[in-house]
Amino acid sequence: MTPYDDIAAPQAPPLIDGLGRTVSYLRLSVTDRCDLRCVYCMAEHMVFLPKSEVLSLEELDRIASAFIGLGTRKLRLTGGEPLVRKGMMDLVAGLGRHLKSGALDELTLTTNGTRLAEFAGRLVEAGVRRINVSLDTLKPDLFRTLTRGGQLAKVLDGIAAARAAGLAIKINAVALKDDNAAEIPELIRWAHGEGHDLTLIETMPMGEIEADRTDQYLSLADVRRELESFWTLEDLPLSTGGPARYVRIRETGGRLGLITPLSHNFCETCNRVRLTCTGTLHTCLGQDDATDLRAVLRAGGSDADLVQAIRQGIAGKPRGHDFEIARRQPAVARHMSTTGG
Ligand code: SAM
Ligand code: SF4
Repeated sequence: MTPYDDIAAPQAPPLIDGLGRTVSYLRLSVTDRCDLRCVYCMAEHMVFLPKSEVLSLEELDRIASAFIGLGTRKLRLTGGEPLVRKGMMDLVAGLGRHLKSGALDELTLTTNGTRLAEFAGRLVEAGVRRINVSLDTLKPDLFRTLTRGGQLAKVLDGIAAARAAGLAIKINAVALKDDNAAEIPELIRWAHGEGHDLTLIETMPMGEIEADRTDQYLSLADVRRELESFWTLEDLPLSTGGPARYVRIRETGGRLGLITPLSHNFCETCNRVRLTCTGTLHTCLGQDDATDLRAVLRAGGSDADLVQAIRQGIAGKPRGHDFEIARRQPAVARHMSTTGG
C-alpha cells in the first residue's frame, strides 16, 4: 500500500472539458533531461532545470494517481528521456499497481531507446506491454548528427532487448526534409520487417532551436503521395483520439501512422493532457494554457485541493492548437522535451 492508493479509486465523475471532451489520457514528463540533443527538439547547450523545481517521484506518483482516480485510463511516461531519471523504475513499478487494480488500462512510455537494454525486463515486470521508441534514421553517421553525438548501436541493442523481453514496439520517426526524407521508405521497410509499427511525425514549432524549422518541415501529405507511387496504402479506421491517422501498407503488411499536427485538424477528438516534470498541466500541446499543480502540492494541498485544481485546468482546455510553420516563430515557447512528447 502507498499513501496514494485511496485517491486512485475511480469513484469520482470523469474529467470532461468545457467542450464536452472526456480526458482519459495523461502524458507525464518525468524529467527535462536527456542523454541526446536531437536537433529539432533541443538547443545544443540546453540549460536544464534545477532539481528542486522538478517533481519528486512521490509527487509524480501522487498527481498521476489523482488523474487515475478521475478516470485516466492511459498513462504515458515521457520526458526528456524518461529512462535517465534516477529512480525511474521505482516510479514505474509503483504505478503498476493501478494496472493490477484495473484502474488503469495501459502504462507505457516514450523513449529514445539508449537505456532500454538495461531496463526492458523491469518495465515488463511492472506491467508495461508496449513502448514507443524514437528513431529517425538507421544510418550511424546521420544518427550521430541528428542526436548530436548519439550511438545508433545502443538504440538498436535496446530495441532488440525490449523485443526479447516481450514488449511491443512502435517506432516514431520525425520526418525531416533534408535529413531522412529519402530514407523514409527504408525505415518503414525495416520497422515492418522487424514486426514494429512505425509512425511518422511532422516537426512542430516548439521552443527556440538553432535550426530554421521551415527548412526542416516536411509535409506528410507529400510523403504519403510518394509512398503511394510504389506501395498500396489502405486507410485504417483506428483512432487513438490523437493526431495520428493510420494506414496499412499492403506490400509490407505493417501499419504506418501519420501525425500531422500542422496539416490536419484533430483537436475535436482530443482526449489527452500533459503534465510537465515541474507539475504544470498543459491541456493543449500547442497553447500556453497552464495550471500549476506543483504549487498545490507544495502548499500542503489535500487530495481534494489537487482534484479541484485538475478539474479547473481541464475545464479550460482550449478548442484547438495554433501551429503555423510559416510564421517561423515557435507557437509556444516551451520545448517538446519540457512538455513531454
Ligand atoms: N526522449 C524520448 C524520445 O525521444 O522518445 C521522449 C521525449 S521526446 C520529446 C518525444 C517525441 O517527441 C520524440 O518522438 C521526438 O522525436 C518528438 N519531438 C521532439 N521535438 C519535436 C518537434 N519539435 N516536432 C515534432 N516532434 C518532436
Ligand atoms: Fe532527447 Fe527525445 Fe528530445 Fe531527442 S527527442 S533530445 S531523445 S527528449
